[in-house]
Amino acid sequence: LFLVENVTKSYQTGDVEVQALRGINLTLEGGEILVLLGPSGSGKSTLLNIMGGLDQATSGRVRFADHELTSLSERQLTLYRRDHVGFVFQFYNLIPSLTAWENVALVTEISRDPMKPGEALEMVGLKERMDHFPAQLSGGEQQRVAIARAIAKRPEVMLCDEPTGALDSKTGILVLEALCRINEELKTTTAIITHNAAIRQIAHRVLTFHDGRISETVVNTERLPPSSVVW
Ligand code: ATP
Ligand code: MG
Repeated sequence: LFLVENVTKSYQTGDVEVQALRGINLTLEGGEILVLLGPSGSGKSTLLNIMGGLDQATSGRVRFADHELTSLSERQLTLYRRDHVGFVFQFYNLIPSLTAWENVALVTEISRDPMKPGEALEMVGLKERMDHFPAQLSGGEQQRVAIARAIAKRPEVMLCDEPTGALDSKTGILVLEALCRINEELKTTTAIITHNAAIRQIAHRVLTFHDGRISETVVNTERLPPSSVVW
């Protein structure tokens, strides 16, 4: 589904150049759950942002299905993101003046083949909370609304940057359960960046980043359901 070849990324800030990625090679199959680990500053978010079309590589090649991301214009990248990618971040970025249902409906209105907002909210276990405003929901519930919003357009890919970073273990597990259920039922390819090494247990494959490179790749032959993960 994804083919990442020799990708580098450098950021120039004033006179300082930071080499965020130093040659990443990765192929990602459809339907896989990938967990990305590694110290702060090792390049995890940079790679996810490039795969999600939020940023461009400095050199190398990124292909998604038949889209050659590294040669798309800004406008084409925007359409790629809108049509194919669901993003989930550490902070939920819900619109406070809209209910859970309305936050999801914002996305379904502009999608080609969306779910109904209620259906997406049901998948994350929040059907009874549809009419709540973000302030009336716990952090874990808000994150699940953000996940419902991301999946409502039926994206092929979910890119999650520290989705449980602001949550305790109990609510974090519910968020991971939602992501695993979506992966199973919709065959959504899912990449999860985390600082919690225990989350590796739900992955099909675990990548460890170090200084802009993937220093280790482990295929997980004994995956566990999120409820069995010990944090
Ligand atoms: P963390 O776990 O802290 O989120 P990370 O592995 O996600 O870290 P990245 O955010 O990918 O790390 O950053 C990799 C390197 O690139 C860091 O040295 C960072 O300071 C630098 N960097 C990232 N984004 C930018 C930017 N927009 N401008 C300049 N430097 C950047
Ligand atoms: Mg990061």
